[in-house]
Amino acid sequence: MALIVQKYGGSSVADAEKIANVARRVADSAAGNQVVVVVSAMGKTTDGLVDLARQITPSPDPREMDMLLATGEQITTALLAMALQRLGAKARSFTGPQAGLRTNSAHTTARITRIEPWRVRQALDAGEVAVVAGFQGLSEEDEIATLGRGGSDLTGVALAAALKADVCEIYTDVDGVYTADPNIVPDAKKLDRVSYDEMLEMASLGAKVLQSRSVEFAKKWGVPVHVRSSFKRDAGTLVTREERGMEEVVVTGVTHERNQAKISILRVPDRPGIAATVFGAIAEANIVVDMIVQNISRDGYTDMSFTVPRADFQRAVTALQGVSAKVGAQGVLSDERVAKVSIVGVGMRSHSGVASRMFATLAREGINIQMISTSEIAVSCVIEDKYAELAVRALHDTFEVGRARASAG
Ligand code: ASP
Ligand code: MG
Repeated sequence: MALIVQKYGGSSVADAEKIANVARRVADSAAGNQVVVVVSAMGKTTDGLVDLARQITPSPDPREMDMLLATGEQITTALLAMALQRLGAKARSFTGPQAGLRTNSAHTTARITRIEPWRVRQALDAGEVAVVAGFQGLSEEDEIATLGRGGSDLTGVALAAALKADVCEIYTDVDGVYTADPNIVPDAKKLDRVSYDEMLEMASLGAKVLQSRSVEFAKKWGVPVHVRSSFKRDAGTLVTREERGMEEVVVTGVTHERNQAKISILRVPDRPGIAATVFGAIAEANIVVDMIVQNISRDGYTDMSFTVPRADFQRAVTALQGVSAKVGAQGVLSDERVAKVSIVGVGMRSHSGVASRMFATLAREGINIQMISTSEIAVSCVIEDKYAELAVRALHDTFEVGRARASAG
């Protein structure tokens, strides 16, 4: 008998019919296995709650925000437990706090500090399916705290680690992790297996299948994560530790992230403390900066460029204009329409010339590269937004992505 943690995302439990469908699936797995189910809020419930709060006040108190947001997941747990009971399965729902998830006190972006899932174990021992609300826990101050958007994935993986489950299955509306977005690349392939590191790069580079923190957690505790469709029975993609042979494939996936903006601050004096001042101002505005490039300095001045999510563009420019004047820079230059395209693969560690092939491919398509960044297993380029799809297709082609490590179709 295996112990399985299954997590169902918002789109899989969007209405009563879908919840009944999930209940059937869970009941099937529960015949012969111990099952813990972690659920998200139904459909776009969380977005709706955020919107409601904004209608009340532009700056909701984070504690009250968590009281509000945590209700979404709680609704799903009770409904799913009822649906399971209706099928004759024994089931019991739990909030995050009841399931023993303890967090720090950073409301709306809390981190898990410990898990004491004794009530979940008790339920399993009694032959019940434990249905747990994702995305929430109890802080040191005994307050309800949420784990940040997409946090139910983390709840699933963390519970799987704490319970030493055999696998954490993440059920979603796509049937696995693809070599590229299939809406853009018609011959993108579903990957059978992907390493934690590759998944981490892909998650943070714009493949929105799994929340990044959940992948970090899975890697740290060695939890095998199976990403699969809640509407189909086929196996999906297994996210797992790096295996022999994975390095033979140079590029495992091509990702892209649109909705980026680029901002440059020109001719800033090149001396200690300037970058800290510039990015301090951006951080103060609570904006997450992605890629940063600083030019070599000439006659004591340098240019700095960086990217931010397009939604934060105006605020970032405003914050920077203030700093620009303060540090005696020449001014601020910005481009609201850029995209980031990236190639990812553990094979890059052992193959050379990968970056130059990427640049040559973009050049062949007449696409100008504005910024470049690399990690051990990824190369990313910032380009004009309108070329994003063309770039992804060309790169997928050049590197014959999916030839070796994916199933057909
Ligand atoms: N309901 C939360 C959100 O929409 C958490 C989750 O679904 O993972 O972000
Ligand atoms: Mg999600």
